[in-house]
Amino acid sequence: MAVLSRLLRARTTTSYTIRTFSSSYSTSPPPSSPENDVIKTPTDGRNVQWVFLGCPGVGKGTYASRLSKLLGVPHIATGDLVRDELNSKGPLSEQLSEIVNQGKLVSDNLIINLLSKRLEAGDAKGESGFILDGFPRTIRQAEILEGVTNIDLVINLKLREEALLAKCLGRRTCSQCGGNYNVACIDIKADNEKPAMYMPPLLPPSHCASKLITRSDDTEEVVKERLRIYNEKSRPVEEFYRKRGKLLEFDLPGGIPESWTKLLQLLNLDDHEDKRSAAA
Ligand code: AMP
Repeated sequence: MAVLSRLLRARTTTSYTIRTFSSSYSTSPPPSSPENDVIKTPTDGRNVQWVFLGCPGVGKGTYASRLSKLLGVPHIATGDLVRDELNSKGPLSEQLSEIVNQGKLVSDNLIINLLSKRLEAGDAKGESGFILDGFPRTIRQAEILEGVTNIDLVINLKLREEALLAKCLGRRTCSQCGGNYNVACIDIKADNEKPAMYMPPLLPPSHCASKLITRSDDTEEVVKERLRIYNEKSRPVEEFYRKRGKLLEFDLPGGIPESWTKLLQLLNLDDHEDKRSAAA
């Protein structure tokens, strides 16, 4: 924990303004909504320090990874750190595997230790800023993070409950290249209260198709437990940041192209790469 404090303290600043990004993405005044008032960026030239919240399966990894490429900051997913540790067959791996495969959270101390190590390694490489995905997941983690650094923005991704389970069960990774795909096709009809929602599958290219693996904690029973734990332990973290004026709510409207475009609009960012490849 001390390491996290030291590392993050070094990154801490106090002055912020409404964001004015430049370089590879263009700017224009954000649309006037209370939510956009929270989109802030540091004024001292350091990179953004953002957090992604949201239920399992909502797509935190997808959007955090895209934004990290766009903004040139590391995407740090604590779930990946846990899986790396688990696969390393080190002293903690058996204990971790049991916790993860039951859909439970690992201890705050352990996760902070793993995150500290990751930040330390990044620091040594000259990284600055971050997009955290899957951390903080408890009020204690949020308090520790808040105590040691300024988080500029917390994006709360939201998706209807009925789509979350299907998305977790459809998740696949290529064991060779690490590419992430989803074989689920979400097609929810409109009802009196909610509009229709369509999320097409994200299918792998043919060279990955025979190498797909499923996460061991993406079974129906475990996903339901992870959703229950999210509601119990992580939902209060949303309120923690809402009270501090840092929470940006984003309801995913559909599949990745539609959602990515809308998210960029909300953040007042422009993805020139994406536009170029769409035009090609
Ligand atoms: P994820 O890939 O984010 O779904 O995380 C996979 C698993 O890693 C979770 O179900 C937890 O067991 C563990 N984990 C990841 N991040 C945290 C965290 N911030 N606190 C506690 N456990 C975590």
